[in-house]
Amino acid sequence: MTRPRKLFVKSYGCQMNVYDSRRMADTLAPEGFAETDRIEDADLVILNTCHIREKAAEKVYSELGRIRQLKADAASGGRKVTVAVAGCVAQAEGAEILRRAPAVDLVFGPQSYHRLPELLAKADRDGRAIDTDFPVEDKFDFLKQPTKQAVRARGVSAFVTVQEGCDKFCTFCVVPYTRGAEVSRPVEKIVAEATHLAEAGVREITLIGQNVNAFHGEGSDGASWTLAQLLYRIAEVPGVARLRYTTSHPCDVGDDLIAVHRDLPQLMPQLHLPVQSGSDRILAAMNRRHTRDDYLRVIDRLRTAQPAMVFTSDFIVGFPGETEDDFRQTMQLVADVEFNGSYSFKYSPRPGTPAADMDGQVPDAVMSERLQELQALIEQQLAAFNAASVGRTFDVLFEKAGRHPGQIVGRSPYLQPVHVTGASELIGKVARVDITDVTAYSLHGLLNGTGRAEPDHTRFLATAEA
Ligand code: SAM
Ligand code: SF4
Repeated sequence: MTRPRKLFVKSYGCQMNVYDSRRMADTLAPEGFAETDRIEDADLVILNTCHIREKAAEKVYSELGRIRQLKADAASGGRKVTVAVAGCVAQAEGAEILRRAPAVDLVFGPQSYHRLPELLAKADRDGRAIDTDFPVEDKFDFLKQPTKQAVRARGVSAFVTVQEGCDKFCTFCVVPYTRGAEVSRPVEKIVAEATHLAEAGVREITLIGQNVNAFHGEGSDGASWTLAQLLYRIAEVPGVARLRYTTSHPCDVGDDLIAVHRDLPQLMPQLHLPVQSGSDRILAAMNRRHTRDDYLRVIDRLRTAQPAMVFTSDFIVGFPGETEDDFRQTMQLVADVEFNGSYSFKYSPRPGTPAADMDGQVPDAVMSERLQELQALIEQQLAAFNAASVGRTFDVLFEKAGRHPGQIVGRSPYLQPVHVTGASELIGKVARVDITDVTAYSLHGLLNGTGRAEPDHTRFLATAEA
């Protein structure tokens, strides 16, 4: 009997890549590949790459240097290791990867995952293979669903891609070039995937897309549906207790999406809404298509609809031409909105994007200082938010056993880890918790919370005696 071949997938970058990596593993499972988390044991290594900043691509090349040695060691023991590079670096660099990294056998872009079995056969046959096309067929029609066992192993929260690509063309960003134009999946296929996940025990679904709120997939009535319509539909799937969506563009937050935050208790009162800068001058140079006031108006409307809303965001510091005054405006915006989390980065020029050729590139030392200051303020706001959680009551979705005997850990609606003493049967269920204490980034509390939770999850609550 042949042993199952082992697959090691490493994901770089965003949630879209984490999701894609899982779907690659699902597609290779029927081909006899079992996942391993030890790269040394792997027969097939896939690096699912990110091209958003320069460092991300360089990290991939240095990892490929290490893998070359690993491959040579395996070969001297008579074992063949196949090395593949997927994702946005693969899409952007294509054949350059084969030239720079001799260990690589296969290069394929984000739209070719479903062709993996045939691409591997081609690499085996021809020595090396490359596929960075944008094919006409929809890869989601060909990707395999995970088994229920695989879903369970991944936990009670899952991502579902509903949209890919971007038509916005921010002047700093490679996504419209590497991921292509906006494409939305049909509603019924998304519902089928969500149903499969919920039947296997998933309780929280995060709908993901590069520009998720530009979703415009075909609905069951043949019409184009908005993200708001999709959210109402997914909320009807039995077992789905929590919904989130990411990443959104501020220009695509319509009235109907705001109304979902008011009306749908399953939709968590936390939103990641990238703003990048608080300066109108920089926002215009970035081609973000909105002003600082436009952004603040969206925040206000969301808070009016759902007073419990809390926001996180993406920021770029040191965009070409950013002055100290522009940066101060960003800091003021961070304070005004009270963001309590961020993905924040120093600007990184990406070849082929308009900003890479703009005047006024900001020195690295200035960018580092600004980034540190911005992140320190957001950390401070997070600490204040966590401290203010003591005395509140949250519905907590329990995810796993804690480090201490008898302890279980879950997440609040705001994604804060919450530790309680409780039965492991509560894992995968929502229970009400009175928050009593906060340490570092974690909350601690008591089950059978008696306070009023917001939003109210009563219909999903498990009894804490379980
Ligand atoms: N679509 C989302 C939006 O509208 O902002 C963001 C998706 S983008 C893949 C993720 C984040 O990477 C961006 O929000 C931005 O902050 C960061 N990013 C993109 N290009 C960058 C660059 N050239 N330098 C630094 N950060 C960058
Ligand atoms: Fe990139 Fe987001 Fe701008 Fe699209 S909207 S170009 S993904 S930053």
